[in-house]
Amino acid sequence: MRVSFFGAAREVTGSNILVECAGKRILLDCGLFQGVKLAEERNFAAFAYDPKSVDFIVVGHAHLDHVGRLPKLLREGFQGRIYSTAPTLELTRLVLEDSEKLMSEESKRDNHPPLYLEEDVGGVIQLFETLPYGQSLEIAPGIRLTLMNAGHILGSAISILEAEGKKLAYTSDLGNNPSELLLPPDVVADADFIICESTYGGRVHEDVSRRGAKLNKIIELTISQNGVLMIPSFAIERTQELLHDIEHYCHVGNCAVPRFYLDSPLAEKVTKVFGKYPEFLNGKVGEEFKNGAIFALDRVQITSTVDESKEIDSSPTPKIIIAGSGMMNGGRILFHLQKYIEDSKNSILIVGFQARGTLGRRLVDGEREVRIFGKKYEVGAQIHKIGSYSAHADQPQLVLWLSKIAGLGKIFLVHGEGDESLALSKAIGDKMKADVAIPQQGESYDL
Ligand SMILES: [Zn+2]
Repeated sequence: MRVSFFGAAREVTGSNILVECAGKRILLDCGLFQGVKLAEERNFAAFAYDPKSVDFIVVGHAHLDHVGRLPKLLREGFQGRIYSTAPTLELTRLVLEDSEKLMSEESKRDNHPPLYLEEDVGGVIQLFETLPYGQSLEIAPGIRLTLMNAGHILGSAISILEAEGKKLAYTSDLGNNPSELLLPPDVVADADFIICESTYGGRVHEDVSRRGAKLNKIIELTISQNGVLMIPSFAIERTQELLHDIEHYCHVGNCAVPRFYLDSPLAEKVTKVFGKYPEFLNGKVGEEFKNGAIFALDRVQITSTVDESKEIDSSPTPKIIIAGSGMMNGGRILFHLQKYIEDSKNSILIVGFQARGTLGRRLVDGEREVRIFGKKYEVGAQIHKIGSYSAHADQPQLVLWLSKIAGLGKIFLVHGEGDESLALSKAIGDKMKADVAIPQQGESYDL
């Protein structure tokens, strides 16, 4: 068994791992490299392997940095099967259709051909075969695949490959536990090798129980200042958690939430997918679904068209706007930022990871002057952060989860900026006896 790391190696985007075993080539995820742009230039470079030679792909979850180069792979000759859970297939279709549109706009601005076309997205979706959690499938003679719940986003999976007498597990991304919406990540009882994410390998998340109070405070501040609260949000999971929390705030806080917009057609579609898979949600939320009003969909104003989105800016304050993209490197949030970022009575609430180079990261780092669509803006708006909305496990959770796996010969840490992976590696070393590697881009290991 040979494993090669071609993405999310000492960084957080572009997840792409090649496993060669029992005469087959299997890719784990095929994600987009993201930064200042939705699709960084690096995505246009040739794959390090021949796409035609890949037999299977296993997709851990539907985030763009895990699925975003699938259509490119198809365009360049991949014709094998793609395995995932059923919600991951549905969400992948939505995410790829959305990003294809955004990237075609980006490519016109940058004056180069797009990474892939609409028809490539359709082609990729045709290749999927879905698997429920816990059911093992022989995908080729001598190779078994099992998907387990990763608790990260709806349908997210830990992939377990068994071949040549070895067992390799890959977390894709591992969820933050407890989650308001999802079941906690499954425990992997045993594995010889694990490839584990390390996004927050060096950090301890804020206590989840405090986030409701923090959110209330920020909403109250917005109301008292007659301002605008902008929440750049990932369309999957984060937005539904926010909708769920703001709904809860309405009921429990018994407060009049101001005008409240969900300005993300993708998030709107994704929220509907959640409704189709109550069995993938934790019991409490599944019950709420049966009783109807979940995710505040009856209260929030959904702006599907561009004209509706533009009208938000002429509506009276105070108001809350949830819009993508989560790292502010594209999407409708940029238009609202252009209008509202300079005024100190407005706020921006950061609820997700902000990769290096993105506008979101600049704001978190306290930069007072930023560029949006090439134009300079003074940052007057207040920047708030709630860390506990993270969909990723933090250091103590990762170490605890890893420590339950029996027989681990080696741990590979991926999907983390260098210092995060290094901090996790040290923490693992303190708590358990394990051989840890932090692979570099392009590095291969014979297992
Ligand atoms: Zn993810």
